[in-house]
Amino acid sequence: MNSTTPRPSDLDTISLQLSRPVRDVVEIPARCVCGNPLVAATAPRLSNGIPFPTTFYLTHPAATAAVSRLEAAGVMAEMSQRLTTDEQLAEAYRHAHENYLAERERIRSDAGLDPVWEIEGVSAGGMPERVKCLHVLAGHALAVGPGINPLGDETLELIASSWTPDTCICASSWDHEAPVPQRDLSRHVRRANQGFARQQSAARADAPQQDAPASQADAETA
Ligand SMILES: [Zn+2]
Repeated sequence: MNSTTPRPSDLDTISLQLSRPVRDVVEIPARCVCGNPLVAATAPRLSNGIPFPTTFYLTHPAATAAVSRLEAAGVMAEMSQRLTTDEQLAEAYRHAHENYLAERERIRSDAGLDPVWEIEGVSAGGMPERVKCLHVLAGHALAVGPGINPLGDETLELIASSWTPDTCICASSWDHEAPVPQRDLSRHVRRANQGFARQQSAARADAPQQDAPASQADAETA
């Protein structure tokens, strides 16, 4: 077992970070200096069958909050605009897209999972042409390290006054004593799961619509 292998305690920590039960986490590709998860890698097909292109998921509440403030300040539109005029940046961003797909494929293979044809060539966060979610780009940058995703690296630099991976502020970032959110097996949730099963066939017909399916938004609002 190496440091990217999710331990049961990691899954409990992520559930507390996100205030909801997590599922289908297959790797912990980035950790705080204290060892707590910063990023979760999710299986490319969820256990309910839905294809899931958002492989890297930023989980640390202080980081997600700081990134949300950047998004609210209009940074995504500014970055998207630069992609149309800065050819060097655009090329690096296309390489980031390719790296995202390659990493997803490695993670899938390492986890012993079947290929997911519905999301072939589909990354996340707006890559390779646009910027639609800075949480996705920051999660990717943390997972693979600097120099791969230029706008993910830039996002981390922009939030460095609030949060960096090198300084642990975990103690004040979420309630460590709260009960761990467990999967809710109430009738309401069972009914929702039946809805997911019905969506599954629709998802296969139109995989790109599943891009970042409220993934980081869930983290913000849960
Ligand atoms: Zn920490």
